[in-house]
Amino acid sequence: MSKRLRNSEVCADCSSSDPRWASVNRGVLICDECCGVHRSLGRHNSQVRHLSNTPWPPTQLQMVQTLYNNGANAIWEHTLLDPSSMTSGKRKPNPQDKVHPNKTEFVKSKYQMLAFVHRLPCRDDDSTAAADLSKQLHSSVRTGNLETCLRLLSLGAQANYFHPEKGNTPLHIAAKAGQVCQAELLCVYGADPGAPDSNGKTPIHYARQAGHQDLADRLMEIQYELTDRLAFYLCGRKPDHKNGQHFIIPAQMTDATLPISLQLSDHLFEELAMDVYDEVDRRETDAVWLATQNHSTLVTETTVVPFLPVNPEYSSTRNQGRQKLARFNAHEFATLVIDILSDAKRRQQGNSVSSPKDNVEVFFKSVGSRHGSESQEIDQPDYDSVASDEDTDTDLRVGKADRAKSLDSDLSDGPISVQEFLEVKNALSASEAKIQELMKANSNLSEELRLMQKKVPETQP
Ligand SMILES: [Zn+2]
Repeated sequence: MSKRLRNSEVCADCSSSDPRWASVNRGVLICDECCGVHRSLGRHNSQVRHLSNTPWPPTQLQMVQTLYNNGANAIWEHTLLDPSSMTSGKRKPNPQDKVHPNKTEFVKSKYQMLAFVHRLPCRDDDSTAAADLSKQLHSSVRTGNLETCLRLLSLGAQANYFHPEKGNTPLHIAAKAGQVCQAELLCVYGADPGAPDSNGKTPIHYARQAGHQDLADRLMEIQYELTDRLAFYLCGRKPDHKNGQHFIIPAQMTDATLPISLQLSDHLFEELAMDVYDEVDRRETDAVWLATQNHSTLVTETTVVPFLPVNPEYSSTRNQGRQKLARFNAHEFATLVIDILSDAKRRQQGNSVSSPKDNVEVFFKSVGSRHGSESQEIDQPDYDSVASDEDTDTDLRVGKADRAKSLDSDLSDGPISVQEFLEVKNALSASEAKIQELMKANSNLSEELRLMQKKVPETQP
């Protein structure tokens, strides 16, 4: 890291010196305070990694450093830097400005609203504009100009765009040209290293054919990133892809239950696996966050992210399910991760379940029936609350009663009645309300503690 540490490095959002975090998809380095805001916006807005306390794939770090050093931050602050379009009256926060509201509002405008980019990103229904941007991306990845590609991606170019005339995707081009950083950037934006071109060949194939062996290996690693991350979370090891090992599945824990994902369609299973990946990331980043904070400040002043922030592109049901993942205790969560890994391997090897159910209820019944620890949560006003007002009196035990029922119905493969579904849903709402209460109580106590701590110096001799 010593190579990295130069005095000129400042937080891309507030100019504090010595930024210790990076936002991988935005190509910027950020300070602890701004990182707290980034995290509260969710991974769909910003994927943060600690520069020294998180393991980095070397070429991914190289990609972020290159973007940062080449001024990629200007993409997100274009209109702020352009004197002719100074209409908003917005200014960048200073290092001394408060996190709330100054830094928070700025970071939200900058990355969530994209308020300062040159042109507004094109909408999904504007397919001609999107295809045009994607074609530009397709030809730009051949070169080393990363900022251009990030700008195109920020405006809506599709990393997985299949060029109808060329018959391949941008990642095929980058892989063939040995553009390692371009490949990293495309993959952060969702490019698939296993996507076939019109000849049925993947980017991995072209990288290897062109003699870019390291890039081919890295693309292989990215292809298995989801399950590798889960395996690493469980046992601190990753499979040896070069030698044909693609999965590590730790032995099932003692109280093995029916894998809850077993009956999901491939599509829903994929969503569940992605949600669990996000939750692993949240838990691991929280741990790094707490380990790197200055503990002289009160816990309430260090922003932990108590559950996955709402992603407006997902249904509210899915967002609720994602947030419930935070309630699994470590053991329950590990059991779920093992389920996912076993099932991912099974699905990859093509032993599909005879009658997959394409209904989310199966999943959410199972998630809802496992209540984890609820006492550690801290008030986090930035989140859209998913608690509903209905049925706050319902007892938490309903959830436990339903656990038996849900396992029953899973086993019998019978349809789930609306009645059963509503019961679970009510139980979930009730526990959500309970959590909100606990969070409030926690924040009241913290406030009291803070007041008392302020008084201590006055009363000392
Ligand atoms: Zn900052």
